[in-house]
Order: sequence, then C-alpha cells, then structure tokens
Amino acid sequence: MSTSIGIVGGGILGAALLHLLTERHPDCSFTLFEKESAPALHQTGHNSGVVHAGLYYTPGSLKATLTRRGVALVKAFAEQHGLPYDECGKLLIATDEAQVHRLEQIAETARANGVPGIEILRTLEQIRRVEPHANGIAALHSPTTAITDYAAITRKLLDLSEQRGAELRFGARVTGVTGSDSGAVVEVGGERLAFDRVIVCAGLQSDRIAKTTGGGRFPAIVPFAGSYYTLAQPKADLVKGLIYPVPDPAFPFLGVHLSRMIDGRVLVGPSAFLSFRREGYSSLSFSLRDSLQIAGTGAFWRFAARNIRSAVQQLEGNTRRAFARQSRDFISGIERRDLLPGTRGVRAQAMRSDGALEEDFVIERSGCVTHVRNAPSPAATSSMAIAEHIADMIDLGAGGSGATGGTSAAEERRA
Ligand SMILES: Cc1cc2nc3c(=O)[nH]c(=O)nc-3n(C[C@H](O)[C@H](O)[C@H](O)COP(=O)(O)OP(=O)(O)OC[C@H]3O[C@@H](n4cnc5c(N)ncnc54)[C@H](O)[C@@H]3O)c2cc1C
Repeated sequence: MSTSIGIVGGGILGAALLHLLTERHPDCSFTLFEKESAPALHQTGHNSGVVHAGLYYTPGSLKATLTRRGVALVKAFAEQHGLPYDECGKLLIATDEAQVHRLEQIAETARANGVPGIEILRTLEQIRRVEPHANGIAALHSPTTAITDYAAITRKLLDLSEQRGAELRFGARVTGVTGSDSGAVVEVGGERLAFDRVIVCAGLQSDRIAKTTGGGRFPAIVPFAGSYYTLAQPKADLVKGLIYPVPDPAFPFLGVHLSRMIDGRVLVGPSAFLSFRREGYSSLSFSLRDSLQIAGTGAFWRFAARNIRSAVQQLEGNTRRAFARQSRDFISGIERRDLLPGTRGVRAQAMRSDGALEEDFVIERSGCVTHVRNAPSPAATSSMAIAEHIADMIDLGAGGSGATGGTSAAEERRA
C-alpha cells in the first residue's frame, strides 16, 4: 500500500508542498483539504504580490535562507508556466539622516543574505534614474525585487498536482488532526480519515488546528489587518515599481508603501491594525470568538503595553489624508482625492507567550503531524523553499515510502 499524505490548507504553502511532494514521491497518495470553495482566498489572495529579495531578515534565519531560495524557485516556476513575473525593482527611500544610517545597515544585511545588485543611491539624480518622480535624500535600490500573482501561482501548483493524481477537496473544513508515531487522523465533515503523514498549512487558523493535535497554545495567531488604497490616474503613472519607507525598527511591519501590482494598479498601504475577525475583509468585520481569543491572553496585553507608541502612530496615520501625506514624502502632489478605496488583507502573525511577535518562520513536527505555525510575509515569496524544508523534515525517504512499518494508515483509511 502506498504512503498517504494529507495536507490541510489551499493557500500557497499547502499548494507548493503538494506540488513538490507529488513530484518527489509519485508513488504516494495525496489529499489536500481546503475549507473554502476555491484556493487562495485568504492571505495568498490578499497580499501586495511582492517577491521580496531578502533585504531585512537576520542572516542565517529561516526567513533569510528560505526567501533567497524561494525567489529563485518562484521566478523559475512563473517563467516555466507563463505566469506573470516582473523584476520592477524596489527603492527604500530615506527622508532624513537617521534613516540613511538605517539604510546602510539594511544594505549590509541584504548583502550578507546574498541579495544581488544592492546599491545605496546618494543623490536625487541617481534616485530619479530608477523612479523618475521620486523624492528623498538617499535610497537603497534592490533591482531584483519583483512582483507576481501569488493566487495564479497557487492555482497552477494545484492544477499540476491534480494532474499527477492528488485529490483536492474543497469545502472541506478540518476540525481536528490527531497524530501518533505511526500515523495521523484528519477529522473532516464527520469523517475520520487516516494518513501516514499530515501537514497543516492553515494560515490564520494554524494555532487552532495545532491545539487539536495537542500543540501548545503558543505561538498564538494575532490577526493584523492591512488595508490599502488604490492610487488613481494620472498619479499612478508616476510610480514605476516599488517605493518603500525605511522600516521603523520599533515596528514589526514595513510601513506604508507604494507598490505597483502585476495588473497595473498601484496600491498605497497597508495599515497595520489588529483585526477583530481573522478572516474578515471589511473594516466592520467582527467575530466575538476571534476578539475574545486575542484579548483573553496575557501575552497580548504584554504586547500591547510594549507597542503603545506605534499603535498610537498607526491610529493617527490610518486616515486617507495621512496615507496621502506619507505618500507625498516619496512622490510630490499625491492628494487625498487620489486615493481610491482598495483592498484589505489579514496577516497571520504569531505571538509568543511573553507577548513578543515571532520573527522567524515556525514549523513544528510531532511524530507524523507537522504544523506550520508562523508563516507571515515573506512566506508567499518563500513558499516553494518552505515546501522543500518541510519535505526534508517529514522524512519520506528518497523513494517516498515513509510508512513506519506495520499497517499503512492508508489501509485503515475508512476503518
Ligand atoms: C496584507 C498582506 C500583504 C502581504 N504581502 C506579501 C508580499 O508582498 N509578499 C510576500 O511574500 N508575502 C506577503 N504576505 C504574506 C503572504 O501572503 C503569506 O505569508 C502567505 O500567503 C501564507 O500562505 P499560507 O498558505 O500559509 O496561508 P493562506 O493563504 O492564508 O492559506 C491558508 C489556507 O488554509 C485554509 N484553512 C484554514 N483552516 C482550515 C481548516 N480548518 N480546514 C481546511 N482548510 C483550512 C484557509 O481557508 C486558507 O485557504 C502578505 C500578507 C498580507 C495579509
């Protein structure tokens, strides 16, 4: 009997993993469970589509190594399958001297991570050779930072996996995953299905499913909403690629940026606020369960106390007028009326019990069950490299027969 693998989650991580495993282990059987009616409806379909080059991440961390590898894999996959990929480049623009010093530190980190072509531009003339309408006193240029369509990549990964025989089950909400050293059981729609290995890539729900396997309460997911405006014409034509601020080290996200999307729109944002609903895409979205779960941990209040300054800054900076003002630091003449309502995404950011945000990707394996517990940005960029990392972790062997002796779980599937 062949080894059976279950994957929970039809975002880019679940899809990349399924695609890799079906290629590496054609003799195994695969089932992917996704609770929605289609793939990529959560983080993967609500992001800015940037293929991050690896500028900021601590050298040697999973984020740093898997992002560099991920860029190469995403680029090759997009080119091989005729999917959009545009190396439009990115500028991190400094508007005061303190930021110039931080730019130099980021340039050092980026070079240590092996990001190619990193250069500090020290005159307006040099900046304008890259972005003809930008302002700033210096900028870091990353020429290989790119944009793509992660939802299209996810759909392609799943199509190819299905062609190789994988079963895709949409509308299949997994309510529990239990495991032992010899197999795992997925509970879905009243059924209990046995597998030899199960890997959970459930994004915003990852801590909840991990708990059903007996995993710790932490890292716990804290949902951070990110709202964008769309820049109206003719101002959108003033942005060629990606224009970012120098990140504030006291703040976990990258700040309000102007980013060209692969469909030609230019987004301005995102904000970074707690979301009162994990999978809520309007500013009025509210879930009592989600809200209580955040507010009910001491860790959250420790985080809140530590971040009160940036929370107040975010609150003040979250109006359309404030987004326009922040955009004008980089491109003159952007007014409130140029910002049209845009999209909103919710980031699955994991928090530790001491209230600190997990900086690196977190993947936990316990026996036959593996949980991705923290995969925020740039995990879309790193997705195919994260898949390689997990494939190595789950120990299926070169030929794919990872069954640990005795009866294969697949034989008991409907027992
Ligand atoms: C606003 C925003 C901007 C971002 N910008 C970028 C960027 O520019 N570049 C970048 O690299 N990354 C970016 N990211 C991060 C990136 O989108 C995510 O890291 C990545 O999409 C994570 O993929 P995933 O498959 O883990 O999660 P998701 O895409 O959220 O997929 C998880 C899937 O699991 C399913 N699921 C959950 N629970 C269950 C269950 N019980 N049963 C069955 N299925 C279940 C969900 O329905 C969902 O489809 C951004 C994220 C956000 C929110």
